Amino acid sequence: MYFPEQRHLQDDVHKESLQNPEEFWMHQADQLYWHKRPERAIKMGKRNLKSGKSHTTWEWFPGGEISTCYNAVDRHVVAGRGNWPAIHYDSPVTRTKRTITYANLLEDVEVTAGFLREQGVKKGDVVLVYMPQIPAAITAILAANRLGATHCVVFGGFSGPALGQRIDAVKPDVILTASCGIDGNKPAIPYGPLVHDGIKEATHKPKRVIIYQRTQAPWVIDEARGERSWQDLWYSAKARGVRAEAVPVASTDPVYISHTSGTTGAPKGVVRDSGGHAVGLHLSIAMVFGVPGPGGCVFSASDIGWVLGHAFIMMSPLLAGAATVLYEGKPVGTPDASAFWRIIEEYQVTMLYCAPTALRAIKRDDPDARFISKYGDRGGLRSLKGLFLAGERSEPSIIVEYQEFLNQYASPGAQVIDNWWSTEVGSPITSRTLMPHAGFDRTTKIDNHPPALLKPGSAGKAMPGYNIKVVDDDGKPVNAGEMGNIVLGLPLPPTAFRSLWQDDERFYKGYLERFGGELMDTGDAGYIDKDGYVHVMARNDDVLNVSAHRLSSAAIEQALASHPLVAEGCVVAIPDALKGELPFAFVTLAVPDHPTSAIPDEALQKELQGLVRSGVGAIASLGGVIQGSGMIPKTRSGKTLRRVLRELLANAAEGEFDAAVTVPSTVEDAAAVEVAREKIREYFKVKGGAHKAVHTRTPRARL
Ligand code: AMP
Repeated sequence: MYFPEQRHLQDDVHKESLQNPEEFWMHQADQLYWHKRPERAIKMGKRNLKSGKSHTTWEWFPGGEISTCYNAVDRHVVAGRGNWPAIHYDSPVTRTKRTITYANLLEDVEVTAGFLREQGVKKGDVVLVYMPQIPAAITAILAANRLGATHCVVFGGFSGPALGQRIDAVKPDVILTASCGIDGNKPAIPYGPLVHDGIKEATHKPKRVIIYQRTQAPWVIDEARGERSWQDLWYSAKARGVRAEAVPVASTDPVYISHTSGTTGAPKGVVRDSGGHAVGLHLSIAMVFGVPGPGGCVFSASDIGWVLGHAFIMMSPLLAGAATVLYEGKPVGTPDASAFWRIIEEYQVTMLYCAPTALRAIKRDDPDARFISKYGDRGGLRSLKGLFLAGERSEPSIIVEYQEFLNQYASPGAQVIDNWWSTEVGSPITSRTLMPHAGFDRTTKIDNHPPALLKPGSAGKAMPGYNIKVVDDDGKPVNAGEMGNIVLGLPLPPTAFRSLWQDDERFYKGYLERFGGELMDTGDAGYIDKDGYVHVMARNDDVLNVSAHRLSSAAIEQALASHPLVAEGCVVAIPDALKGELPFAFVTLAVPDHPTSAIPDEALQKELQGLVRSGVGAIASLGGVIQGSGMIPKTRSGKTLRRVLRELLANAAEGEFDAAVTVPSTVEDAAAVEVAREKIREYFKVKGGAHKAVHTRTPRARL
């Protein structure tokens, strides 16, 4: 079905970006407004570290001066598109819907930047933004940027200590926040105690906390603590005609700092450059989404606290002059699993972006896809050209299922597109592109260049500037189709980090040292097939080692997901005296009334085992299966916390059912960990000492 050496325009564009970076990237830079045009696209150099090590470094668009805010807002108003929609705020949790035009947004940002300047924010400062999914959060970020400050978005709803850790990491003088967040159907969460707790925990003390008051839970402002009401400052500034012009910064000045989501280790402050960020995102939204400019409507069901949401809820659509849906709600439960389809119909969304976990949740609540059929049958989904998935691997069954829905209900030729991302690199590393020629020509119609083929299970082909290789543990390239470590050649593309916030040593140690200093370790394992499609199979720490065979959790999960009753499967290693490790499955069934027993009935166990054996091989035979709902812990950005389940299992195998496990502060629902613990306890009680006898703790299980 797939031809060797299959080539697409995307490949040509990619090749051009690597072979001729000067011309390629200067052309991209020229699509934006520069206060001072860069001298060139890239300058290579060497960084000498205190430890005596050195490595290749680079600068994108040296000599250039740019304002991201100007490009994302003013530029469109200047071009006469002030009346175009910029933000559709849709908040089922507050029963609010509001459309904000580019002209409205400009006024809001100008006034907000005006009062921030009066509160002491200036070029080069760091402003910390701790906000829920409300328009003021976008204003906050753009206004800080307008003054030439760097922003650091901390996911709203992080605990006090997690916030405190980030306050100490970036030392902001000003925190912009809101009086509360609203997480689904739960009561409003007042942010006051969280922010106070965060500041108490931190050694660094910010001078100002500016609070956007929400009626659901107002904050009692204490001026003595440096607290101010956002609305008071805004109306006062507006009445006095205080507004701020866009202040440009150097291309290489940091636009923002984002902390990685922490499925592994302590969060790291990823720093993004101003010039490269704007140019790279402006290109990737056009190429990947086929949103060449005004007229598109993007709905990214993420959160601006995560890199993906920061880029595709806010920055990319605004840089392109498109409309974006800012959704304060959940895929299910606000009020039900029809939310995404309603939004597509209501705002004529052209691109939907979400994590596969959202689709799994929708499937769990709507196993017969009644809602998508309801909206699809009446033509409500015809505007949709692409469904983009990222954040974790999408199992092929989910891709195939949704591609069929798109074929039936969406715009002709609409595609499900998996794309591989990380906080560190800031734009899709691989994707299939709806408009591969966008880097050169924004007028050719999309249909003239079909995207690379849909290969369920692959995250697509390399995007411009990404030099992707797969190497073994010694750094030697492996053959096409062979699993290995996925690495990126230097220089990384414009959106990517060049270091960690004030920590060049950790950047080197964490990303470059492992493969000799000249390749970036992505931390992901996978392979590139003979046609150049990249298959991202697992984080390196999600690789199972069964009798010295490296198996990916994703491949086994894929086999489980092909069972019609399985809504979600999660596979982790359980230590085994004989084989080192065995795959162990946690499954949630797609049934309205989930069975309460932790042990699936025998027929289901056999079917799952059969699917794993036929889909992956007998080597991957499951060491056990637990069924249950609400027991698979996730990060708030939708990544499965396999490490936590692995730790619980390893402890249980030692008879330590109550032992503490390390749960990262990014966990979405900490209760899931306790549900899993109880399920594991029940499983071991029923299955008796069998596991205890064969399982011994391996050092890895302690990680
Ligand atoms: P974060 O930095 O939190 O965005 O996490 C980045 C990690 O998420 C990557 O290194 C991958 O492990 C995983 N990831 C993101 N997108 C995909 C994808 N499309 N397929 C497989 N893994 C993905």
